[in-house]
Amino acid sequence: MLGQHAVLPLPNPLVFSGGIGQSNRLPCTPLAIRCLITAGPTREFFDPVRFVSNPSTGKMGFAIAAAAKAAGWSVDLVSGPVALPEPAGVMLYPVVTAEDMLRQTDALFGPCDVLIMTAAVSDWRPKVMHPQKLKKDGVGLTVEFEPVPDILATLAQRRRPDQLLVGFAAETENVEANALAKLDRKGIDLVAANSVAGPDGAFGNELNRLILLGRDGFRQALGPAAKAVVAEQLIAALIARLAAPTR
Ligand code: C5P
Repeated sequence: MLGQHAVLPLPNPLVFSGGIGQSNRLPCTPLAIRCLITAGPTREFFDPVRFVSNPSTGKMGFAIAAAAKAAGWSVDLVSGPVALPEPAGVMLYPVVTAEDMLRQTDALFGPCDVLIMTAAVSDWRPKVMHPQKLKKDGVGLTVEFEPVPDILATLAQRRRPDQLLVGFAAETENVEANALAKLDRKGIDLVAANSVAGPDGAFGNELNRLILLGRDGFRQALGPAAKAVVAEQLIAALIARLAAPTR
């Protein structure tokens, strides 16, 4: 049962391989950092075979997971449905709906030091999940939507001050201003502003460009470069941030 109201047991991590791809470009963090990353889209079903989603491929989140692992961090990766190989040495937790993602990240959030929410969570879900496949009857279909819980804002409410919370802002206009507004709204430390407008937008592309923004006026451009390189730049920026006396 894939519907958003289905009560699923927490999935067991599918992957745990010991392979650590050490990068020559990243500094290793002195202390073991436990990192929780979300990636990919969510799917919100209105019958057993039809859903609402978005074009996120999960590439950015998976690249960040690989870069974090390469920096010596331990990485939990909660991902919506994607077609990507698991990064070596990362614990992968597959989920489908926003509700699943909330439950899984909530279960992993307590001990994490750094949360990076790259997932393109569906903002709305159908109010009703029909138990059987809807039949075509030659007329239109109206589906009523309700908002899904905001995972980042929910977790931020019970954050420890020493946890570093990083959100992503996929925007089609006023990218930086809209991204900055999320810092307060969601109670997070940093936001990576990401343009998803037009054919050069982030969704599905091999290249990306981020602007990392902090509530203290911090601003750092990452890329444009391959997502793997941008991911390494992001982890390097977070390592510098973790080492700073104030965040
Ligand atoms: O509110 P908006 O979707 O623009 O915020 C984007 C950020 O919030 C991303 O980090 C995304 O993963 C996270 N998010 C969330 N729960 C939602 C929607 C977005 O955690 N329901």
